[in-house]
Amino acid sequence: MKELIDLHCHTISSGHAYSSMEEMIRQAQNKNLRVIGFSDHGPEMPGSCHLYHFFNLSVVPREINGTIILKGVEANILDYNGTIDIPKEALERLDYAIASLHPPCFKSGTIDENTNAIIKVMENPYVKVIGHPDDSRYPLNYEKVVMAAKKNNVALEVNNSSLRSESFREGAQENIRKFLTLCKNYGVKAILGSDAHISFSVGDFSNCKRIINELNFPEELIVNYSKDAINELLEMEIL
Ligand SMILES: [Zn+2]
Ligand SMILES: [Zn+2]
Repeated sequence: MKELIDLHCHTISSGHAYSSMEEMIRQAQNKNLRVIGFSDHGPEMPGSCHLYHFFNLSVVPREINGTIILKGVEANILDYNGTIDIPKEALERLDYAIASLHPPCFKSGTIDENTNAIIKVMENPYVKVIGHPDDSRYPLNYEKVVMAAKKNNVALEVNNSSLRSESFREGAQENIRKFLTLCKNYGVKAILGSDAHISFSVGDFSNCKRIINELNFPEELIVNYSKDAINELLEMEIL
């Protein structure tokens, strides 16, 4: 099956990514993606853009040469209560938020504290995806995380970049296997994300697919393959 969407893409506005929106859209078209979502890092990430970046995304057309453009953010989770670095006033102007744990913005606590941060952030109605919940530097109780994802209609991300051998994240293979196995058992949806920081990586899910195939993970539980699943996750008729 062909993926329709990549929601996790960083442009040069993130500060440590290297392509423009236009370059990334061109690659989305080369890969035959129907939808590309821009999720630059929230303002607490060193070198990322100001909050005004997110307020002003309405200047970006909804559709460019047949590709649907979604406007989002990869928000930084800041504490164990799931506070993020994007206020409601900005979130309500966006199509979605990914919420993630990142080393400069979040201090890893106990497994319960980290898990609480993720569960609380899922209760934020603007958060649709938990980005790369796969990093042993932030141990999580996956049983609780998967159940909370189901309850709050949030997708856990299988992050292609975490699975690169050069990734800074630790234990991704093993952690992704753990949460996908639970997702499979409980019928909870997951989403593939490239986490592209350069145009050529847009829509690259090759590492994700290796794990998906190994686990025999059901395609109907992968958001990227189904219009209905995409619309349901984003709570809008995008496709
Ligand atoms: Zn980044
Ligand atoms: Zn991230």
